[in-house]
Amino acid sequence: MMDIRRSRFTNKAAGIRVSFEFFPPKTEEMEKTLWEAIGRLAPLCPSFVSVTYGAGGSTRERTHTTVKRILAETSLTPAAHLTCVDATRAEVDAVIAAYAQAGVKHIVALRGDPSAGVGNSYTPNPLGYVNAADLVAGIRKCCDAEVSVSAYPEKHPESRSVEADIDMLKAKVDAGATRAITQFFFDNDLYFRYLDRVRARGIAIPIVPGLLPVQNFKLMCNFAARTGASVPTWLAERFSGLDDDPATRKLIAAAVAAEQVFDLVDRGVSDFHFYTMNRADLVYAICHLLGLRPQVKEAA
Ligand code: FAD
Repeated sequence: MMDIRRSRFTNKAAGIRVSFEFFPPKTEEMEKTLWEAIGRLAPLCPSFVSVTYGAGGSTRERTHTTVKRILAETSLTPAAHLTCVDATRAEVDAVIAAYAQAGVKHIVALRGDPSAGVGNSYTPNPLGYVNAADLVAGIRKCCDAEVSVSAYPEKHPESRSVEADIDMLKAKVDAGATRAITQFFFDNDLYFRYLDRVRARGIAIPIVPGLLPVQNFKLMCNFAARTGASVPTWLAERFSGLDDDPATRKLIAAAVAAEQVFDLVDRGVSDFHFYTMNRADLVYAICHLLGLRPQVKEAA
């Protein structure tokens, strides 16, 4: 019997676009792992690769160094993350200027987590940008970089309601953001329900699903608890009993991610942002399933 889902999927694969998120490495060994991942994923020609910015600007130098190396050594388009936690406008503007000077054309603008940690209330620096929308406006004033922002299908943990969240998204779009990347989620219905509400508010920018292939179930649960993402019971059941069996966990992770992306593609999604955790293998396999193949550079 013909597999209808697979045949529909193959027809759509040509229009698939992906982007990859990395974090700046802390040690030489982590640097090696990151560059192995970049080397493996680069031939898939992502639309861009983003590099996160540590809490309170703690990775400012490392983010910058990583972004600069991507620009110098690859043909990838880097997107540098930037937050406004604990920084004055002048300090943030200096980072924006340094990115512009380095040739960065895409910034992912975020408010950032409260410096006292997730769960505490956020207090803007009295001389700083007050929130992500204010930061987006500041970036647009300082340079002509493309600006992406966050979106939360399951509501940001600090937010009163999904409506308040969407108000903030609208403010970020009005300030000049042209793409939103979502927090990770596992239940696609949540994403589509959120998308309906966003579109109903007249927000037309792409809301790109951020997907987290489950490299490590326990770690993912910790992230989920901090970010307000829910972990469905069926997902926990799939990983249960596998704590000491990394090989099977990896196979299950690939199967779970494949199921999620197939469903998203079937429902019309063509752009995907992958939280790689600086590891290529699962993401590479999912991209392969999405129909992407490494592009070989022509000899000069
Ligand atoms: P916003 O979009 O400004 O706010 C999110 C929601 O929280 C709003 O919609 C609003 O409803 C609510 N809210 C905000 N402030 C308040 C308030 N004072 N009172 C009540 N409600 C409020 N963090 C990093 O440190 N570095 C990164 O590189 C990074 N990259 C990220 C990339 C993506 C794609 C995503 C989804 C998140 C990322 N984060 C990163 C996490 C992010 O910084 C946190 O979620 C932070 O708490 C909110 O920043 P934001 O820009 O998403 O906030």
